[in-house]
Parts: sequence; structure tokens; C-alpha cells
Amino acid sequence: MNNIDSFRHKGLRAKLVRELQTKGITDVNVLEAIGVIPRHLFLESSFVKFAYQDKAFPIAAGQTISQPYTVAFQSQLLEVKKGERILEVGTGSGYQATVLIQMGARLYSIERQKELYLRSTQLLRRLGFIGRFFWGDGYQGLPAHAPFDKIIITAGAPYIPKELLLQLRIGGYLVMPLGEEKQVMTRIKRVGQDDFEQQQYGACAFVPMLNGVAK
Ligand code: SAH
Repeated sequence: MNNIDSFRHKGLRAKLVRELQTKGITDVNVLEAIGVIPRHLFLESSFVKFAYQDKAFPIAAGQTISQPYTVAFQSQLLEVKKGERILEVGTGSGYQATVLIQMGARLYSIERQKELYLRSTQLLRRLGFIGRFFWGDGYQGLPAHAPFDKIIITAGAPYIPKELLLQLRIGGYLVMPLGEEKQVMTRIKRVGQDDFEQQQYGACAFVPMLNGVAK
């Protein structure tokens, strides 16, 4: 696999950024990151020509790389500030992780599928994006590295994982698709030690957040 990023790719990316703007993405740091990250390198080669359409696509282990709009929308809801410690649950292709790193986050990411964990760790290293990647169960989070300023879940969870709430610093956000078959994009703010506020941001559909790890 190569790292080629051509003028054509850059042009398609600029077009995707404009499309995301018309769909309501306003955070300039999000738009800039999407404009920079070579999304085509995160897809299986046969899908390269679709890389800059606003669609989700299959990756290894029966999972999907989220649609660019979804990545942008979740990133916008996180209100990322440079240097913040962010935990991502569901590394998948590594694309969302890269967008957050590009935005200046100190990124921690957990993936339960070993194959995806290995692939994305390798790809990000090759592309020069620095983050910390873990093979494990996102329901447990990373207690040894808590607290986090922000947490993002990129799989549909049937309930709000309590462990993750406890790993959020006060004032921090957890952004997640909440629900079983279909989900509602939800942002939870930790306003005090035992105090949380919740807001909803519309319907969405993600692959399920599952328990335990998979070899
Ligand atoms: N953020 C990814 C989206 C991947 S889809 C991207 O940018 O490509 C969701 C991912 O969540 C899948 O890879 C799936 O294996 C993973 N996942 C599901 N349940 C999980 C869990 N409990 N812990 C960690 N990862 C999980």
C-alpha cells in the first residue's frame, strides 16, 4: 500500500468539505482536518474512488468507516481544544482518530477487534499521526489514563457506559450514539462529581458496541 495523495484527491476533499458545510458543519477546525486527512488511505483499495463521497463504507472485520458527515458532526459536538485528552471507543479504520489528532487532541483510542487494532495502529504510525492505541473493551474505558476531557463512542451503545462517565473530568463531554438498533446522537456533560446533563442531536445508525474483545 502506498501513501500517495494526489491533486485529484485534494480536489475531491475540498469538494467534500464544501458539502459538509452545506450540511451544517461550522467548526473550522473540523473542516480543516477533513480537508487535510487522506481518507482514501483508510479504505480497502477497491473503495478508493468512493473515499470522498459522504458515505459510510465497509472495512475489515465486518465493521464500517463512519460517513464523513458523522465524523464531522461528532467531532464538532466534542468542541475539541488543542491539547485536550480525548478517549475514542471504536478505533475502526483510524480515520476519526486521525481527524481528532489533526485537531490537536492527545488521543487515546480503544478497539475490540484485534485485526482492526493492528491495522489502524500501523497505518497511523506510517502516516505520522501520534496517538495511543489499545486493544480492549471500550465499556471499561482506560481507567489508568483517566480523567479525559472528552470521550467519543463511535459504535451504537444500548446504554450509557457508567465506567466511561466516571473517566470524564468535570466539565467534560461524552458524545455517543445511544440506542439499540437505531440510535440518537447524545452528548452528556459532567457538570459535577455525580451530576450529568444530557442533550440529544437527532437520529443516527451505527454498528453495535459489543462486549468484550474479539481475536
Ligand atoms: N471510528 C471508526 C468507526 C468504526 S465503526 C472509524 O473512524 O473508522 C465502530 C467500531 O467500534 C468497530 O471497529 C467496532 O469493532 C468497534 N467496537 C464495537 N464495540 C466496541 C467495544 N466495546 N470496545 C471497543 N471497540 C468497539
